[in-house]
Amino acid sequence: MITGTRLSEDPEDHRKVNWNREGEPRVADLDRDLRRLIAHHGPLSVAEYMAAVLVHPRSGVYTARDPIGADGDFITAPEVSQVFGELISAWCRVVWRAIGAPDPTLLVELGPGRGALMADFLRVSRTDPKFHRALRLWLVEASPAMCQLQRRALGSAEASPSPSWTEAFARVPDGAVLLVANEFFDALPVHQFQMTASGWNERRIDEGANGTGLRFVLSAPSGAAALIPASLASMAEGSVVEVSPARIALASQIGERVAHFGGAALIVDYGACESRTGDTLRAMRKHAFHPVLADPGTADISAHVDFAGLAQAATEAGARVFGPIAQGPFLERLGAQERARTLIANATPEVAAEIQNGLHRLVDAQAMGALFKAVAIVAPGAPPPPGFE
Ligand code: SAH
Repeated sequence: MITGTRLSEDPEDHRKVNWNREGEPRVADLDRDLRRLIAHHGPLSVAEYMAAVLVHPRSGVYTARDPIGADGDFITAPEVSQVFGELISAWCRVVWRAIGAPDPTLLVELGPGRGALMADFLRVSRTDPKFHRALRLWLVEASPAMCQLQRRALGSAEASPSPSWTEAFARVPDGAVLLVANEFFDALPVHQFQMTASGWNERRIDEGANGTGLRFVLSAPSGAAALIPASLASMAEGSVVEVSPARIALASQIGERVAHFGGAALIVDYGACESRTGDTLRAMRKHAFHPVLADPGTADISAHVDFAGLAQAATEAGARVFGPIAQGPFLERLGAQERARTLIANATPEVAAEIQNGLHRLVDAQAMGALFKAVAIVAPGAPPPPGFE
């Protein structure tokens, strides 16, 4: 049993990261680029808008600043509690043994944020030297500044496998893979369509007249409309549906990878189990909702994940999918309470209260326990992984 606690984050290190420090002028860059794009190409799809706001090369939410954590716009499970990354590490180790302990195994994290999940993962995996030695770490990350944060978080973790970075999962070399993605898919762009008397129209973003800011308009649907599930074909006028070619393509690549080379992927995110209608595009600024089109770049934006759509894409690519299951019961089945008790046994009363509180946020249905879901993508014929039995 491992009782180690995570290293505290060094705020000095965080300050040294090479963010685009010019602040407001950078957001003005994004604003100007969005207006230029609209002027030259017409209204933007919601997907184009999301991609620009999140990963604009100079002034995106993830490229110009760090939106994660108490001082940022939103907080994620690994930032709430070390138990999250520790249990995922144990999950991966069990799966790795079940597939014959391949050495090497590619350990891939999509969108590692500040590197908290992976630091917790590696601290635990180190207690099984055979497993730890087999891991080749790949981090898929679009933001150079986020890469720097990850380098710092993992560099301090003694004897870590040294990470390789890439911007796209498709560039990770071939081989058996253990892949984890927490709150990554929700950041991948979605298109929105709205039902009208003449069928689905695409919701796009245009400039209002006389500097009134950005606004939604309806226009002819793009090719992404082909992804609207047939089951939603006869929705009432005004219904909105979201589809994401980027998410579907990635789920399909992951499915293909595990089906062909073996391994497993664990995707944790927020959203519904079945494909539904509804506008779920949200902006969060300093932990509060913010209007989606106001002050682009100053608030994180995301949309619910359609787990049924991901599962279908991975299955069609040849893999087997388990779940989705709600995060609360999933973590409980992996032994979240036992792990917290062990940590608490060695902690001061203040730290013990923090651990208890963190665990509560992860598993409680009113907090993250019900909205967040976990899905596992494995090779065909593989047994159900831990938590999905
Ligand atoms: N998994 C982390 C962070 C989630 S935030 C956690 O749970 O704390 C989303 C992460 O994905 C960030 O690291 C962000 O920079 C990265 N990201 C967002 N869009 C991306 C894209 N299109 N390609 C690659 N990385 C992306």
